[in-house]
Amino acid sequence: MTMVVTEPCKGCKDKACLKVCPTDCFYEDGDMVYIHPDECIDCGACVPECPVEAIFHEDNVPEPWLHYIELNAKPRRSVRPLNRSRHTPCAVRCVTHVRKM
Ligand code: SF4
Ligand code: SF4
Repeated sequence: MTMVVTEPCKGCKDKACLKVCPTDCFYEDGDMVYIHPDECIDCGACVPECPVEAIFHEDNVPEPWLHYIELNAKPRRSVRPLNRSRHTPCAVRCVTHVRKM
């Protein structure tokens, strides 16, 4: 099971979702970000971070955006990995920065 990024993501500058992902499974191209289905552990941490509600569980993707399931899963040369820092969500959110990886 995996999360899927859909249409509303296009044009996002903030990319708050990838800052909380414990497996760094977000990828991007010039348009938007994608979630690698084999790397996502379905933790759900990214969902509330997205300001435009672009992320859905693959079982709940709205019908007009069903093709994004394949788009997220399909390896394409233009898509590159994001946020390979391997920080845990607690380390990213810690206000005093006492947690480091
Ligand atoms: S999924 Fe949401 S937070 Fe992440 S890049 Fe797309 S629009 Fe931005
Ligand atoms: S559900 Fe968890 S593992 Fe999957 S993309 Fe979102 S934050 Fe990353």
